[in-house]
Amino acid sequence: MNYILETYGCQMNVAESAAMEQILREHGWEKSLEDDGNGGGRLLFHKSLYRHKKTPYPNLPRVRGLQSPGAGLSPISTAAGAASGGNLSARDDTNTIGYSEKNVKPIPQLVILNTCSVRATAEQRILGRLAHWNAARRRGGAAKNGTPPFAILVAGCAAANIADALRKGGADYLLPPAEKHRFADILIELEEIYRSAKHHAAVNPADNAENNEVLPEAKFHHTAAAADGGFSQTHYTEDAASAFVPVMSGCDNFCSYCIVPYLRGRETSRPPDAITKEIDFLAQKGVREITLLGQNVNAYKNGGGFAGLVRLAARRIEGTPIRWIRFLSAHPKDMGADVIEALAENPCFCRHIHLPLQHGSDRILAAMNRRYTRAAYLDLTRQLRAALPSLTLTTDILVGFPGETEDDIECLLSLMNEVRFDSAFMYHYNPRKGTAAYHLPGRIDEDVKRERLGRVIELQNIHTKAARQAALGAERLVLCDKPSRKNSAEFLCHSEHDEMCVIPAAGVSAGDFLRARFTALEGSTFKAEHAALL
Ligand code: SF4
Repeated sequence: MNYILETYGCQMNVAESAAMEQILREHGWEKSLEDDGNGGGRLLFHKSLYRHKKTPYPNLPRVRGLQSPGAGLSPISTAAGAASGGNLSARDDTNTIGYSEKNVKPIPQLVILNTCSVRATAEQRILGRLAHWNAARRRGGAAKNGTPPFAILVAGCAAANIADALRKGGADYLLPPAEKHRFADILIELEEIYRSAKHHAAVNPADNAENNEVLPEAKFHHTAAAADGGFSQTHYTEDAASAFVPVMSGCDNFCSYCIVPYLRGRETSRPPDAITKEIDFLAQKGVREITLLGQNVNAYKNGGGFAGLVRLAARRIEGTPIRWIRFLSAHPKDMGADVIEALAENPCFCRHIHLPLQHGSDRILAAMNRRYTRAAYLDLTRQLRAALPSLTLTTDILVGFPGETEDDIECLLSLMNEVRFDSAFMYHYNPRKGTAAYHLPGRIDEDVKRERLGRVIELQNIHTKAARQAALGAERLVLCDKPSRKNSAEFLCHSEHDEMCVIPAAGVSAGDFLRARFTALEGSTFKAEHAALL
């Protein structure tokens, strides 16, 4: 049995795709198309052949390194459109896995779209992909052995938010976040369907010719959420040096622009023993870096809260190949002194924190229901920098919220000047139906939003450039990710501060830690020479 998996959206979706792939492997399924690691192509399923087509959105950001997902955010200094929420970087819905023709394997029995609903455009994209696959299987007709063409499963937030449209669009299975624990049952059901269809085809060859029906009937079940929050046991990607470890799911914050709490449900903290079990498994696999993942990880409720989890994870990796721990994403209102103290005690926690700001004006922060003030955010950044020397800070900024004035933008720019973020994801607001802010008066004209966003980007670019220039000549510990696509003589790495660099590839393997000296800057990537393997 073969499958194709397309992943869209935030790091949580990347982690959940890894978990689905783990279950698929355990059931003996194989990829129909191998990820070629470059995200630069996509195969369109067309009759008996595949046609290669460049992704139509080559310049938009992807979750960095699906083969090394633990690196977390991939900060950019350009606007990626409009946000409707989420602390994780559902920056764009173009995080599809790339495929290359040379890796084509047989026609799949299952196409999985792991989807994002953070913006209406993300959902439109999913409906487009669904229409594409639905048309493809109609064109493809019956598979050679007489079994039905592939089934389509839509997982993720869109499966919760636009279920009716997906059903009408041809989805056979919907797997919203609260029901992801049903994935293995769906596989078993499909395996049975294909086994019986194959048997039927073998004994009734005349029925094989025009079997264009997808499956006997579309399957839609709705079950209660699993008691443990439905966390998968492991989110490991084969041979990856980095891995996500989900520790929370859902969100209780209800930021007024954000759809996530309505789709992913209330906050659930994963039991500590399930987390340590997954860490142990990843250590056994030789993973070098993990990222504790959740919409709002520092609201972790079990044991000693997030501070307790920081200490627990740090103890657990002692004596294992795992050397670095990150977390994503943190809410400023929940970043207490206890967490800062625990981070300071444990240098295995990388000195890079993504701390979503969203805005610098108290009036707008209140309208967004962020539940912190500008002063509190500034104070927090000072505390973090005092406790964690060399810390890099990145953030999210949302411009053009309803009612925003020029004074509010000035507040934001002045805060940016005070904090000097190392980099930022910057967006303009677009109303999202189903959120509280959708009904707010004072919507900002599109041109005004764009002009304000332009000023924010311009300032951030200055800060980012200055931070990178200051790092030239520095020596850093870096983790080696994978060979560079552009130049096979180079290897891609990242530092604990989330700086990207390339080093000479000779003698280097994925998962190596080494000391590297940054010698030049090309775009946002450093050129480096390696000083010593560690
Ligand atoms: S904290 Fe929760 S509600 Fe607020 S932006 Fe993040 S996911 Fe959305």
